[in-house]
Amino acid sequence: MISPQDLGSASPPPAFAGPTTTLDLDLIRKYSGPAPRYTSYPPATQFHAQFSTADIEAAIADDNGAEAGPISLYLHLPFCETLCWYCGCNTVITRQHGAADAYLDTLTRELDLTVARMERTRPVTQLHLGGGTPTFLNAEQLLRLSDLLKSRFVFAPDAEISAEIDPRRLTGEQVAALRSLGMNRASLGVQDTDERVQRAINRIQPQETNQRAVEWLRAAGVTSINLDLIYGLPLQTPTTFDRTLDDILALQPDRLSVFSYAHVPWMKPSQKIFEHRNQLPVPEGKLAMFALAHERLTQAGFLDVGLDHFARPGDELALALREGTLHRNFQGYTTRAGASLYSFGLSSISQTATTYRQNHKTLGAWRGALENDLFPVERFLRLTDEDVRRRELIMSLMCRRELNFADLNRRLGVDVATQYAPELASLVDLEADGLIETSPHGVKVTPRGSPLLRVVASRFDATFQAAARRHAQAV
Ligand code: SF4
Repeated sequence: MISPQDLGSASPPPAFAGPTTTLDLDLIRKYSGPAPRYTSYPPATQFHAQFSTADIEAAIADDNGAEAGPISLYLHLPFCETLCWYCGCNTVITRQHGAADAYLDTLTRELDLTVARMERTRPVTQLHLGGGTPTFLNAEQLLRLSDLLKSRFVFAPDAEISAEIDPRRLTGEQVAALRSLGMNRASLGVQDTDERVQRAINRIQPQETNQRAVEWLRAAGVTSINLDLIYGLPLQTPTTFDRTLDDILALQPDRLSVFSYAHVPWMKPSQKIFEHRNQLPVPEGKLAMFALAHERLTQAGFLDVGLDHFARPGDELALALREGTLHRNFQGYTTRAGASLYSFGLSSISQTATTYRQNHKTLGAWRGALENDLFPVERFLRLTDEDVRRRELIMSLMCRRELNFADLNRRLGVDVATQYAPELASLVDLEADGLIETSPHGVKVTPRGSPLLRVVASRFDATFQAAARRHAQAV
């Protein structure tokens, strides 16, 4: 059995030097295709329904060991007043703000059910409020949430406390309430500042609204502001997106997330309207916008942290990238290591060193379970030792852009070069194209390969490779 403490231990800083990547669009075209985002390994698609309450209780009990690390908390607050037609999140659309009171009642039950089984002296080093729209909750409801959490957990003095904020639904009172909860980071959904694009996606958000939100947050003492953008939305072109980037840079964010629009109308029917209106950019246009964002942001001094994330050089995320201490969880890249993730609210995912569990995705199922004093869990996974080893390899590539064999051999207790010889041999095309460099000491992802981290990591993903083989046999 691999000890969680072994996996969480520090290792020497990697020889990572050049965070600014050079985009090679031909290579991106060549290797484009579905690959997991590796916010977990195995990915959430592998979680299953064959589990019992005893499995969940054992997962929490195992996590309470004498050397248990800190806690990271996530709360899913699903309400939104209106639906943005591109949205891929798990939301509940309503204008009835009383719904949030009933939600907090049920959330209290969930917290109490779990907290009763947890070692409560473990410090909380990270809290994230996600959604939906956390600022659907009014100031009073946010203060109630703050009391709920502070009365049940011990927060570390330097805890990172962040919230997703919809600038359209924000008041000065809400900012004050979030600050009293300790919020020191905010992530604002902007997506695009072009008026025609905003009409096409059903999200009207003037730049003045963004400016006002940023000013309020800065004045209240929020030290780090992230802005979310999406490329590939209806009616976007490189020209309109260039103007959006001007607007975004004028807001002087500390971090940026630049996401690719995911068109999945079979899962999100509201997206069908973009097809009916024939408004979506062609793939080459989307690629041009990705390249434009990368060029503009790196020229403006942001570091490409990986996947969709950019950060100012002095930001904690950029420092963690340089020092090799970056981590990855369901919220994306993070600087907080070794924490177990306890998540609450519908559809949220929790993680211990050797388990994952995901809550029910509908309000009715989530609430129904809790009214019967049952964990509102829909799917579960206990990792095998092999899963844990592969997760280490994949996260090393995703966060440190390397496999350091000596370090990994020590931590995993196997000879990586021997045990994973077939996977390492499968990297030959990536090396020929200059995406990686291999040596007897390990593998390094080059600046050319950085935009394709997921492709490199997927070579060590047993489930993804098995599916790819089945697909290849089928055609
Ligand atoms: S505000 Fe965010 S979560 Fe709500 S519908 Fe719009 S994109 Fe989705």
